[in-house]
Amino acid sequence: MSVALGIVKIAENETAKAKANRVDLIELEIGTLAGIELDSLDFIWPLAVKDTVLEKATKKIIIIPAKGKCLDCDSIFEIQHLYDCCPSCNSFIKGIIQGKELKVKALEVS
Ligand SMILES: [Zn+2]
Repeated sequence: MSVALGIVKIAENETAKAKANRVDLIELEIGTLAGIELDSLDFIWPLAVKDTVLEKATKKIIIIPAKGKCLDCDSIFEIQHLYDCCPSCNSFIKGIIQGKELKVKALEVS
């Protein structure tokens, strides 16, 4: 719920800044390691946006696949789980390059 409310808050700020009344389209980027359950977000969404600028908005979600960079051999690889090791050298030491994002990528207001 708090995730959805955070998104509503961002949308309300942006809508106010643009001096608009409502959001027509909201595009979210969510990484596979962001810890967001898309099913629960969909479930909670109608409740969270009720009586807000987002009530009539179309919600579009872009999934960002998680990627890590091995700190031992510099390989870049896709991560399914946080504890995955490097496919080239089996090292567990890696940096997360992407996959933890949760952000509002685009908003269309009117
Ligand atoms: Zn490696």
